[in-house]
Amino acid sequence: MNRVFLDHNATTAIYPEALEAMSAAALQGGNASSIHREGRVARGVIETARGHVAELAGNQGLNVIFTGSGTEANNLVLCPGVQTARCGGPATYLLVSELDHPASIVGHRFSPQSVDFIPALPTGDIDLSWLQARLEELRKAGEIVLVSVMLANNETGIIQPIGTISKLVHDVQGMMHTDAVQAAGKIAVDMENLGVDFLSFSGHKIGAPPGIGALVVRGDLVALPHLIGGGGQEKRRRAGTENIPGIAAFGVAAQKAKAGLSAAHEIAALRDELEQGLMDISPGATIFGHKSERLPNTTYFAVRNFPAETVVIAFDLAGVAVSSGSACASGKVAASHVLTAMAVDEELAGCAIRVSLGRDSSRNDIDRFLEVWRDISEKVGADPKAIETETTD
Ligand code: PLP
Repeated sequence: MNRVFLDHNATTAIYPEALEAMSAAALQGGNASSIHREGRVARGVIETARGHVAELAGNQGLNVIFTGSGTEANNLVLCPGVQTARCGGPATYLLVSELDHPASIVGHRFSPQSVDFIPALPTGDIDLSWLQARLEELRKAGEIVLVSVMLANNETGIIQPIGTISKLVHDVQGMMHTDAVQAAGKIAVDMENLGVDFLSFSGHKIGAPPGIGALVVRGDLVALPHLIGGGGQEKRRRAGTENIPGIAAFGVAAQKAKAGLSAAHEIAALRDELEQGLMDISPGATIFGHKSERLPNTTYFAVRNFPAETVVIAFDLAGVAVSSGSACASGKVAASHVLTAMAVDEELAGCAIRVSLGRDSSRNDIDRFLEVWRDISEKVGADPKAIETETTD
């Protein structure tokens, strides 16, 4: 039986057109720093892709700095000393949402005493009142604040009110970054509307290969301390010979992802069917964030007494790829930090399963998912060992 892949928030397959652009660029060769014709052709590939990635952020004129990943883009910008022309000076303090990806929570370059984590509400939204009060305190203390809040969460799919947050941040002369890695290609992303100064993208979440990402800057950049020093590539913002095949693929994927946004309502309809089917089979299921604005492709659910790791393995053996919300750290399964921040109890958080649809997901995939889930529920009931015994034999 064909596999059903419902883990597109982890990564999604490369577009064939992006793969073609990638191999054409690789076969063509050329170093974009060379002044001969081959070098100029390579430069052209980069600049064309730069325009397409900028358009994915809403405007061809935005400043795109190519990086090796979404993680690197976050690490690059979340740094003391970063400064744009419109803010009050170089950043001295970071406020990062506790719902954010580790690429921001861990991947920043501020010292621990200059960082606060913005708390979340049980709805999965960040606590705006807390943020507003803290911004005012920091302004009074003379700090220049950089705020980082992800646009859409990779686990719950919940979308944050970035426009409102940007306004609060700019009112105190601070700077605003959003991690748009999961939002890109799933909802429209427009830096101007969002009001953000910085935004991060990752290629492999939108149909380019892994190993390519971008930091997009709106407005004039005054300072951006190096993360990777060396040659003068990317206008001295990111040293190292450019990954031209990856960049070529990223440009094509950005165009395709933007064009594909028109199918978002079809994906949302499939996701809603999936959730309806799930609730019919398991009326006691919790769907995290279902009352908040969410990405159209993501369902994050849990049923008590159905441990996530066991369920993921059972799905896998039945040919369906989904993921659990827990992470394995040092050999111990830890509850999702996102659900912990949303005050979900540890036992329920340990049962969280993420289902994320992609551009090729079909009704058959949803039917198969529900068929397998019905089977798992009937077999397991309140006895999770039922699956474990069956799958390990
Ligand atoms: N930010 C978010 C919200 C993500 O979901 C991910 C990947 O899962 C990243 C950042 C990291 O991106 P990359 O895999 O390109 O380093």
